[in-house]
Amino acid sequence: MQASLSISLQQCSKTFADGTRALEPINLEIHAGETIVLLGPSGCGKTTTLRMIAGQEQPDKGGKILFDGVDVTSVPIEKRNVGMVFQSYALFPNMTVAENIGYGLKIRKMPASESKLRIAEMLAMMQIEKLADRQISQLSGGQCQRVALARAIAVRPRALLLDEPLTALDAKLRDSLRLEINGLLRQLKITAVYVTHDQTEAMALGDRIVVMEHGRIAQIGSPRDIYQRPANRFVADFIGVMNRLNGNIRDGIFYCNAGHLHWHQSDAATRSILFRPEDIKITETHEQSTLHGIVNTAVFMGDRTRILVDVGEAQPLVIDSHSRYDFKAGDRVGLNIDFRGIITL
Ligand code: ATP
Repeated sequence: MQASLSISLQQCSKTFADGTRALEPINLEIHAGETIVLLGPSGCGKTTTLRMIAGQEQPDKGGKILFDGVDVTSVPIEKRNVGMVFQSYALFPNMTVAENIGYGLKIRKMPASESKLRIAEMLAMMQIEKLADRQISQLSGGQCQRVALARAIAVRPRALLLDEPLTALDAKLRDSLRLEINGLLRQLKITAVYVTHDQTEAMALGDRIVVMEHGRIAQIGSPRDIYQRPANRFVADFIGVMNRLNGNIRDGIFYCNAGHLHWHQSDAATRSILFRPEDIKITETHEQSTLHGIVNTAVFMGDRTRILVDVGEAQPLVIDSHSRYDFKAGDRVGLNIDFRGIITL
């Protein structure tokens, strides 16, 4: 594998010919060897960003893309030496698995003996040795995606760009292939840019996640940063489940419809507090609590019970309880929020 590549996007915006503004000017530094995930709702500009890195789209005038500090903005895709993997696999149906994997090597005129070794190495890496002579039409979705990965990696690209590679697969296969891709990216130490709208996938794969909204970067951070310290309301609501209590602070106490809690933080202007389902405890004995609610729904999920609790807000609170107590709709319950999990935005 070649030494890992750093990628820099500087003031890259994109306006399509029909006037669609897909990206506002974005700046993004992708470090050598890291896996960066572009995450966001449909139409936020993830694929456009990836295609600009690949060289399939040009940024608007003034935008620049650098590979290891060298301006490649006008370098065409075939000279950028990046590997690409798509949701649709994009394999050649009239070639065998081995021929697909060897395609890029042939284009690069690699001697046959060397190419044969490389193909064998890729087949072994993706654990598809037995499929070498199969036609693409005889493969399952998961096998197709392994071949597509092997084909992308065979040419030893400087970076690997993946656009929703697991979206077409069923949930179980997606989980196992995600683990495999994670292992592969760590093993290869290759710079990877991975596009998804699936936050679980983003959390599992990304060294850092770039959350995008309407052609802008809403936040860049580690999965933990993004989940525990969202920079704004959009990120807070887009990633995972977020609870909200609206109220106000008087004399060091936060008052809301559910009751009150002592406020130790310096931010006295807070009008609402946010927290995750795992950062609130529910108790059947409610006398000790300063916050209360009425159980709306309780769904037993085996390892936990997901409980919706009405607290006089527009939305009920979502709470994950590990208690053995069988909460029922209509129960009046006490609520204790873990202060460490409180986010104010
Ligand atoms: P998805 O998850 O649905 O693939 P995305 O975040 O990858 O979405 P993009 O494909 O980057 O989003 O598209 C961003 C915006 O640019 C969208 O509004 C899309 O309709 C628009 N767009 C993409 N390609 C073109 C094009 N060739 N011409 C005009 N508009 C385009």
